[in-house]
Amino acid sequence: MRGLVAAFLSLVLVGCTPIARASSPVAAVPVLESVFGNRFIVDLRYHTADNFAKTDFYGPAHIDSCFVLPEAARALMKLVPELQKRKLKIVFWDYFRPISVQWKMWKLVPDPRYVADPHTGSNHNRGAAVDMTLAHEDGTRLEMPTAFDSFEPTAHGDYVCPPNEKVRCENRELLKSLMTKVGFEVLPTEWWHFQLPGAEKYPVGDRFEKKNAP
Ligand SMILES: [Zn+2]
Repeated sequence: MRGLVAAFLSLVLVGCTPIARASSPVAAVPVLESVFGNRFIVDLRYHTADNFAKTDFYGPAHIDSCFVLPEAARALMKLVPELQKRKLKIVFWDYFRPISVQWKMWKLVPDPRYVADPHTGSNHNRGAAVDMTLAHEDGTRLEMPTAFDSFEPTAHGDYVCPPNEKVRCENRELLKSLMTKVGFEVLPTEWWHFQLPGAEKYPVGDRFEKKNAP
C-alpha cells in the first residue's frame, strides 16, 4: 500500500497528462485511473465554459496538473476501500487552482460571496481543497441539493431538503461523512468543497512544484 501511495503521490506531483475538455472524461483521468482502479473521475469544470463565469479559465492557463498537497492526496487514497464497498466513484470538479486564475475569476466576479479574494487566496490556490461529488460506477452523478458552483442557500450544508427530494440531502450527507472520515472539512456554504483543516497555513501558488513523496 505504501508503494501505491508513493506511486500516486509522485505521479500527482509531477502532474497528469493534459486534461481533456469536459466532454472527454476518460482522457482526463489516465493517471488517477491507473492508481485508483477507476474510482475517481475528473470533470474539471474550469477547463470548460460549464461554470459560473461561462469561461474556460484553465485552457488558456495551460493547466494540465492533477495536483493536491501530499497531505490531501494521502487522505484521498483512504477513500478507495469505502468507494469500492459502496460501488461509488468520486467526481473531481476542481483541485489545485493557480493564483493567476484566481485573479482572472476575481476580475470577472469581484464579489467575495462567490469568488475567494485573491489578495488572501482560495485554499484551492494552496492545493489544499477539492471540489467533488459522487457518482455511480457507470459515471451517473448522484443527485445533490444543487449543481456545482450554485450560489443559492440550497448549496449550504444545513439546507433541509423537502420530503420529495430527501435523497439529495442524504447523498450530500454521505459525501460529507466519507470526506470527513478521511480528514477533510466541508465549507458550510458549498456542499462540494472540502479542504484540509488549517489549510490557510499553506502558501498559495501559481503552479505546482515537484516534491518527494513523504
Ligand atoms: Zn472549492
